[in-house]
Amino acid sequence: MTDVESFRRDLRAFLERDLPEKLGELPPNTAEYWGGQKPDLPHPNSARYCELMAERGLTAPTWPKEYGGGGLDQQQAKVLQEELKRLRLPPPLVGFGLVMIGPTLLQYGSDEQKREHLPKIVRGQIRWVQGYSEPNAGSDLAAVATSARFEGDELVLNGQKVWTSYGEKGDWMFALVRTDAHVKKQEGITFLLLNMHQPGVETRVIKLISGSSPFCETFFTDARAHVKDVIYGVGKGWTVAKALLGHERNMIGDVFGTSVTSRRKGNEKNALGELAREYIGDRDGKVADPVVRDRVSQISMDERCFALTMQRSADNVKAGHRPGAESSIFKIYGTELNQRRHELMLAIRGPQALGWSGPGFDEKELAQTRDWLRSRGNTIEGGTSEVQLNIIAKHVLDLPD
Ligand SMILES: Cc1cc2nc3c(=O)[nH]c(=O)nc-3n(C[C@H](O)[C@H](O)[C@H](O)COP(=O)(O)OP(=O)(O)OC[C@H]3O[C@@H](n4cnc5c(N)ncnc54)[C@H](O)[C@@H]3O)c2cc1C
Repeated sequence: MTDVESFRRDLRAFLERDLPEKLGELPPNTAEYWGGQKPDLPHPNSARYCELMAERGLTAPTWPKEYGGGGLDQQQAKVLQEELKRLRLPPPLVGFGLVMIGPTLLQYGSDEQKREHLPKIVRGQIRWVQGYSEPNAGSDLAAVATSARFEGDELVLNGQKVWTSYGEKGDWMFALVRTDAHVKKQEGITFLLLNMHQPGVETRVIKLISGSSPFCETFFTDARAHVKDVIYGVGKGWTVAKALLGHERNMIGDVFGTSVTSRRKGNEKNALGELAREYIGDRDGKVADPVVRDRVSQISMDERCFALTMQRSADNVKAGHRPGAESSIFKIYGTELNQRRHELMLAIRGPQALGWSGPGFDEKELAQTRDWLRSRGNTIEGGTSEVQLNIIAKHVLDLPD
């Protein structure tokens, strides 16, 4: 039996035999798997699931064991994904701790910082939020103005962040602050971690066009952070910020890549074609409207190409290649493809895709309206499509300025 086979056998014994005995029914909603300290979240059963998986390092399977991870290689991590999927188990933990600040700390944190923060991420004890954008620093992120001055072994923060996703649910923030206003703007930035449960931090919810409120404005009034929570050194935040953005873009690209891949594997076989037949009808076994048929085929082909490119990139990572600026390609293509898919679904459903509430629309139709509106934000968060094109031109294609 190979190592991978014996790993799969042991994992199955745990997931199929030991785990169910200790678990109640798991909630279907991903929002329940973000961990954190705020009351009412997460659901107690998902918290228990996270705890049991974390005991074996299975919430952060590829992180080193010394920081609470599973120490698994890429192949074993893939087996874990396959087994969770086979058993229809949700990921035990999601969130920015796992996909953004965790990998960044592994890259740039000191050993002490890793020991302090990573095990709490692995166990879902802290919910992390991102404090990058400001009213005058979005695409031009290096313009951040939130100031941080030193006072003993603390930094005192004043200023404002905006678009802080899940800010009102957050426990800790990773933030970019200005520690020096008299040098080149990138060189005056420091990357630090701060506890949000303090009087100097206030969050106000912003409501979106889709009806939900996924993000906040965050205000700092003499908020405090510890010098020991400065990552990679004072004035070196820009390097850390860019690395984290790479992880963020990978994550966003992955979200769409994974849903495309699972559709390709038949979990949602030709869903667009089925939808078109249902709403438009078929002629000779084909979608009746040739224009819609053409659009369905085009998106299906593009999704196939995207899934294969994602696979090639995953194989490269397995071979030891660290993804760099090309994460921008996945970000832009994945998010724009998803928007095209939503536009097409809208065209197929017609007025039935424009319901907000009440009778006359079924649940899927109502969800479609909100999902379509939410998809608009995907090409903005993590850096807009235009900014991704600039990065690709400069750092992937090596084009002149
Ligand atoms: C759903 C969502 C969640 C978010 N979550 C977070 C979060 O948790 N934390 C956080 O810090 N931020 C978050 N953001 C903010 C996001 O990172 C910014 O919105 C984004 O970086 C763009 O900045 P901006 O909104 O200030 O737009 P601007 O930078 O003002 O851009 C306006 C327009 O100008 C274009 N543009 C700007 N500069 C250039 C250029 N050099 N070349 C070509 N075109 C350009 C842009 O593409 C855009 O179309 C989130 C945003 C969204 C939509």
